[in-house]
Amino acid sequence: MKYCKNCLQPDTRPNTKFSKDQLCPACCYYDKVRDLNDWEERYNELLRVIKKYRNNRSNFDCIIGVSGGKDSTRQALWVRDKLGLKPLLVSLTYPPQQVTERGVNNLSNLINLGFDVVISSLSPITWKEMLKEGFKSFTNWAKGSELALLSCVPQIAIKYKINLILWGENPGLQLGDLKTVGKTEYDGNNLKFMNTLDGGSDKWLQQAGFSEKKLQPYKYPSQREFEKSSLQIIYLGWFWKDWSIINNGMYSVLTGLEIRKDQVENTGDLHGIFSLDEDWVTLNQMIKYYKYGFGRVSDYVNEEIRFGKMSRDEGIKLVELYDESCGQKYIDEFTNFIGISNEEFWTNIYRNVNKDLFTIENNGTIKRKFKVGIGL
Ligand SMILES: [Zn+2]
Repeated sequence: MKYCKNCLQPDTRPNTKFSKDQLCPACCYYDKVRDLNDWEERYNELLRVIKKYRNNRSNFDCIIGVSGGKDSTRQALWVRDKLGLKPLLVSLTYPPQQVTERGVNNLSNLINLGFDVVISSLSPITWKEMLKEGFKSFTNWAKGSELALLSCVPQIAIKYKINLILWGENPGLQLGDLKTVGKTEYDGNNLKFMNTLDGGSDKWLQQAGFSEKKLQPYKYPSQREFEKSSLQIIYLGWFWKDWSIINNGMYSVLTGLEIRKDQVENTGDLHGIFSLDEDWVTLNQMIKYYKYGFGRVSDYVNEEIRFGKMSRDEGIKLVELYDESCGQKYIDEFTNFIGISNEEFWTNIYRNVNKDLFTIENNGTIKRKFKVGIGL
């Protein structure tokens, strides 16, 4: 395990590759961006690209997937108020047992801001079975629900005959999932290659016995369907100079976003602004940490380090303290929902801990072998 020379991104992130100077893709991207300073040109480029979708009299101009969280709230307002487009917002909600009150309030906030929102809500029975299967087979409960979250936007775009999908972050440039990089730096049509969707993404569900009918809402439209409907995904993140976790959070709080109030020791969420519509993301981040050696705090500090707002050493301290944080109450809620015991939960985690990076002690404590910022 090696760390990026600039930030605290380890090379264990799936689909990532460091430069020969030992920089992660996100740092390389920000380096380039800093030198270019071509934001006005980029904005004009965006205006040029969206021109043909604008002022569609009989339809919405574009579609945006929203959760009511920090990124989607900011995007929706920007697209409507700055670009002057008429967006249809699409929200796939979590089932009642999983969604947080704050998540419901945040979606209401978006509706109150005057948008048209299509809310899609899937059968909680299939949802629960899928969470359980994802956790059992991959220690990742979100493996199935992410498919639904990613698929519902193009599915609804096709049904409503809307050709333009606006997406926020470019997972290739801004996170380092290089397979998703498209023809241009804002072309999102290769999103289908992202780690979650790649390689027959629902095969594991078919093998687990989920019928085609049940899987319908979890299917990302094929390349052919994209072409037939002339669907284009554009990453907005590429056009925004101040796109960042904290900026999006601050901006959205000012327009009514409700944030997470639990302390960082329980959530690993430094500023309480991630995945606000549900809380089991906390245990998934802890699991990600045990698999790859980095969690949510790393995502926060890496961005701050890149922007020159935090030193690498300060980042190391925060990652050491909180990157594996997860309050027991979130584990309890989750295990109750899928119907497994706390022991079964941990047995599965222990089985999947990356033994190159961690040791499991006799009392069950998981200890890292690597040094944060240095590696192994
Ligand atoms: Zn980096």
